[in-house]
Amino acid sequence: MPGAPVPDVGRPIRRVFVANRGEIAVRIVEACHRLGIEAVVGVSDADRDTLAALRADRAVCIGPARAADSYLRKETIVAAALGTGCDAVHPGYGFLSERAAFRRYCAEHGLVFVGPSAEAISELGDKLRARRIAESLGVPTVPGSDQVESAADARRFGEREGYPFLLKASAGGGGRGMRIVRDAAEVDAAHAGASAEAAAAFGDSTLYIERYIERARHVEVQVLGDSFGNVVHLGERDCSTQRRHQKLLEEGPSPILDESVRRQMAAEAVKLARHVGYEGAGTVEFIVDLDTKSFYFLEMNTRIQVEHPVTEMITGRDLVAEMIRIAAGEPLSFSQDDVSIRGHSIECRINAEDFRAGFRPSPGQLRAWSPPSGPGIRLDSHCYAGYRIPPFYDSMIGKLLVHADDRAQAIEKMRDALEAFVIEGIETTIPFHRMVLSHPDFHENRVTTRWVENVLMRPANQGPESS
Ligand code: ADP
Ligand code: ADP
Ligand code: MG
Repeated sequence: MPGAPVPDVGRPIRRVFVANRGEIAVRIVEACHRLGIEAVVGVSDADRDTLAALRADRAVCIGPARAADSYLRKETIVAAALGTGCDAVHPGYGFLSERAAFRRYCAEHGLVFVGPSAEAISELGDKLRARRIAESLGVPTVPGSDQVESAADARRFGEREGYPFLLKASAGGGGRGMRIVRDAAEVDAAHAGASAEAAAAFGDSTLYIERYIERARHVEVQVLGDSFGNVVHLGERDCSTQRRHQKLLEEGPSPILDESVRRQMAAEAVKLARHVGYEGAGTVEFIVDLDTKSFYFLEMNTRIQVEHPVTEMITGRDLVAEMIRIAAGEPLSFSQDDVSIRGHSIECRINAEDFRAGFRPSPGQLRAWSPPSGPGIRLDSHCYAGYRIPPFYDSMIGKLLVHADDRAQAIEKMRDALEAFVIEGIETTIPFHRMVLSHPDFHENRVTTRWVENVLMRPANQGPESS
């Protein structure tokens, strides 16, 4: 490995511990290598054969397959990082990435955490708190409530403000801990369901209410901040193609924003990030109400996001490398004026799921794995022919991206790329994406966040997919 080119300003980073798995672990290893930094990846027993383990300078086992016994154990991860001589920890997304306690624990042991401060994580990671901060700065938030103490409290909100509304977990993530309430009769069950789900998934059952926006688009702004107070945005991504509030396909720029709204949204995102002295890569999520054309702050994700490559495709910037440089105490390598958006990018999340059977997970061995390639095609994945997908984790096995001059060409290129992608041995969401990309609603931007469930997956619409 060549010597570290990251200059010794404050916090030199020569070896990074990758505290994650799957495609993002590979992504981090490769970014380290581009920077001349070594990468050690911590793997569970079930992940010894993953591509990240093969590509890293070293792989160490951090415990059994169950995430609670490996990827979520901060003591084991920090001990492994120190034991392998790492200076820094990159948490990726999910797992420990948004745990302020993990961030602090790393610092206590002299490890640089590649991400924002513990204060920024706890201020913004808690949705209710983030909402209050946004309100105090004049960033528009969805009309709703502060903390909801009981079902009776929620019912009073409904009587006062009307239905439908959304009960949301303050600690929520990944679309969990959320319930739509359409009338008073649904309040009790929704309240019990959301708080139980939040308590089980996040150890915190705090709930609040937002007015439910029926015809919505999800649009989010990528930001980067450094330790010198510089904050820039890198444009937006549109993630409206969702199922159960989880993203399936993302694109950028958003095809529904006009220039003035686009500028306003980016300015609100930068304002929020600047207010908390944000360091690293972050995403400010907004919801756009198609009926009123207004946009509202949803939440801020204080980590690298699954769909970050969409932004990399249209800006030509390496977000993960930038995060590592920022953590090493370097200033941002470019200014706002240097950021230009070129063309259009689409990302399809390829999941090991049988979408015709309710997106049932389909783990197993990849008998064939032959990804498409060519100009403007990118695949982020930890898989290879012969790899056995373990049943213990998230079912995402790769992210296929395309970049083209405009949206129509990007759609065409993605359809061809999906068709060329050969995967045998398991079911994947490739046929689902082909269905989305051939649908006139997608071409004509009629997709809302409920479109997959309400239109595409309606039995009547599930004819044989065309390509
Ligand atoms: P995005 O997809 O926009 O990056 P998500 O909220 O969908 O953001 O989360 C990204 C990944 O992190 C997913 O794999 C999801 O399952 C996981 N995840 C999200 N929130 C949590 C959480 N609180 N704890 C553990 N994993 C989470
Ligand atoms: P998570 O932390 O799970 O990502 P978000 O608050 O970001 O939670 O919301 C996830 C998705 O849920 C959004 O992209 C959108 O589809 C839906 N959603 C969230 N809030 C609202 C709302 N007030 N009205 C309509 N849909 C919403
Ligand atoms: Mg979100």
